[in-house]
Amino acid sequence: MANKCRRPIVHTMENSKPSIVYRYKNALYVNLTNSCPTACVFCVKNTWKMDYRGSDLNLQGNEPSPAEVIALAKAEWAAAPFEEFVFCGYGEPTMRFEALLTCARLIKTGRAEPLPCTLKIRLNTNGLANAVLGRNVVPEMKGLIDSVHVSLNTADPEQWLALMRPMAPWAPTGFEKVKEFIREASLLLPEAFATAVEDKGIDLEKFKALAGRLGAEPRLRPKLEEGENR
Ligand code: SF4
Repeated sequence: MANKCRRPIVHTMENSKPSIVYRYKNALYVNLTNSCPTACVFCVKNTWKMDYRGSDLNLQGNEPSPAEVIALAKAEWAAAPFEEFVFCGYGEPTMRFEALLTCARLIKTGRAEPLPCTLKIRLNTNGLANAVLGRNVVPEMKGLIDSVHVSLNTADPEQWLALMRPMAPWAPTGFEKVKEFIREASLLLPEAFATAVEDKGIDLEKFKALAGRLGAEPRLRPKLEEGENR
């Protein structure tokens, strides 16, 4: 694709290590975990060998602490400020929900200066947090997460299974749980998007209609070779 991205200025304390934070456009992305309850057909983590546009996102089991994330974000900010702080890596960020909230809380309470407490914080997610964690987690994000982008992809439950390929425990109820997550987020958080990969096999009109019924704004995204993740 055209080179729209900026190479990370600081990946980690040592550039030979995997990237915990990385830059894309005007945002700083946070790679909290490689754990994921889905194996989406459009995920490129395997074909791209865990590389994302020059950043090695393979944490090799060494998931960062919130303190590490914030220290790296501060260093990035000092090098060049960014407009958004985004939880999105090769893995589902809510698999480390407590760490995610801690990072957001440190920023929003002004304990991560020079990062401003007004910094926009976004979560890119497959929307399965309520299913995986066994409770409605959206109220816990209130005041901490400004925007969620949920990879819904389709209005068809069978197609959702085929596209998202959830692990067995989340397969039977996953689609309904993702819809519940989006509905809650649209009610409680400042911004909620339901996203879908542009693909000929997806009925995008039905997808947009479902997003609207859930209270979220639909957003289409190109396949990763041509655009950004999620
Ligand atoms: S949720 Fe993200 S990391 Fe997990 S399989 Fe899908 S695209 Fe890949």
